[in-house]
Amino acid sequence: MCIICKKSNDRVILLSTKARKTLIASNVERKDALARECENLSRVYVHSICRNKYTKPQLIRKAAKEAEQQVNIFFFFINAVL
Ligand SMILES: [Zn+2]
Repeated sequence: MCIICKKSNDRVILLSTKARKTLIASNVERKDALARECENLSRVYVHSICRNKYTKPQLIRKAAKEAEQQVNIFFFFINAVL
């Protein structure tokens, strides 16, 4: 199963230790839970397309920005309610 999209259709590749580190590093930047998942699994499989999408710096920055915005919206909502 591909750890990124959670699907097992198509061919998945086993990540090398180095590739795995890269993926974990980009996951940390993106502020999502995949990094922890990667660290806990003994073997990490991904689609090469998913990995490319995941480790592209432009997309990483965009996702991090979106995550921040969501947090801001959440706090705005909490403040509005209280
Ligand atoms: Zn995938």
